[in-house]
Amino acid sequence: MNKVEYSFLYLNQETFLWTNNEKGCVYNCLNQKIFVFKNNEVLNMVLEELLNVNNLYRTRLSQKLILDKNIQNWITDIENIEAGGVESEEDAKKRITFKPLLKIQQTQDFYRYNYEQRKESGNIMDNLHTLIFNINGSKYGNDNYFKQILYPKQSTEVLNKDDVFDFIDNSKKSNLLSTVGLLGNIWEYPDYEKLISNLKNYPYRVVYYCLEEDCRSNTNIDFLDENFNLNILVTECASKKISPIISPHILYTFIVASEQDMEQIEDIVSLYPALSYKVIPIYTGKNIDFMREYVFIREEDFLNANLSKREIFTRQAINIHDFGTLTIDCDGAVYSNTHSSPIGRIDESPHSIVYREITEGKCWLRIRDQYPCSNCIYQWLCPSPSNYELAIERPNLCDLSV
Ligand code: SF4
Repeated sequence: MNKVEYSFLYLNQETFLWTNNEKGCVYNCLNQKIFVFKNNEVLNMVLEELLNVNNLYRTRLSQKLILDKNIQNWITDIENIEAGGVESEEDAKKRITFKPLLKIQQTQDFYRYNYEQRKESGNIMDNLHTLIFNINGSKYGNDNYFKQILYPKQSTEVLNKDDVFDFIDNSKKSNLLSTVGLLGNIWEYPDYEKLISNLKNYPYRVVYYCLEEDCRSNTNIDFLDENFNLNILVTECASKKISPIISPHILYTFIVASEQDMEQIEDIVSLYPALSYKVIPIYTGKNIDFMREYVFIREEDFLNANLSKREIFTRQAINIHDFGTLTIDCDGAVYSNTHSSPIGRIDESPHSIVYREITEGKCWLRIRDQYPCSNCIYQWLCPSPSNYELAIERPNLCDLSV
């Protein structure tokens, strides 16, 4: 530390600093190192100066401040994670650093202005990346699960094939549309071969999500290939005997609601080492303890946050779970999030629906800007709000007091 009358404390521009009245955290994106500290009056004064955008992510420290034990400890922690340091006034004059701030190029106002004043849509359709069609539900479906994860409803309605293709055709204006998902029991769908062969004419990856119960009795999976994959959804694993189909085009999704489910999955995957699978939790309405244990975020999870600056900015701008996806239910309702009200109908233009969601909707841009998350130092390290919060009816997925 320099023995000059004044020294300058600075942070690097890959470093984030978040504080509230009680504590704060510093996260260095370059090495993913983090430290959490208790806030106090003297430290808070220094941090406010550091966070003032006009100060170029640095602040002048008097000798008195430099000798303050709290400030000294804070500087040591900063240096330990290579997030910044202390330098002389001369060196500070050469440094120009900007605190990491999200600059949104295309805001809701930009799209509104283009559309209403210039009669142009900009590239708003490029915000659409994925279409999910719940083609016919399943008799084993579950309407509550449909609101949380990709899961068929228990429905007898059937989505009209022509409506599906019209909607996809009208979505082609999106240069970033890449995936079409199908939910339901395809083998019960009228003229399903035609549905499949037509879908193969599009340049999109198709993923068909079906329940293990529906797949079990229908072994015709000849239509699968590298662009047409099958995702087999398995619930209540603990009470089932499963003989998985091993194929490069099939992924198993084990949907767990209890520890017994988890144990059973361990047994299955140890028996079938070549199996491709993933595990996702589900809230049944009766397993809050399981959710608390396996899904809720804990403070120690942030010690391994491993996020880039871009990933943090993404969480500040959009909902990482919902953004870019429209789900079309078998009754024709279109959702930007299946736990919310429909945003449109299948016979509307996808452009109008995307425009409505971007300019008025509350799903694709649902971020952690509400209390208590808005007062939490992990606000932007935390994943975006998910449908689990909506199902559990809580604003946050943790037991942290903020
Ligand atoms: S859910 Fe909200 S309160 Fe909990 S850790 Fe994340 S940001 Fe903080």
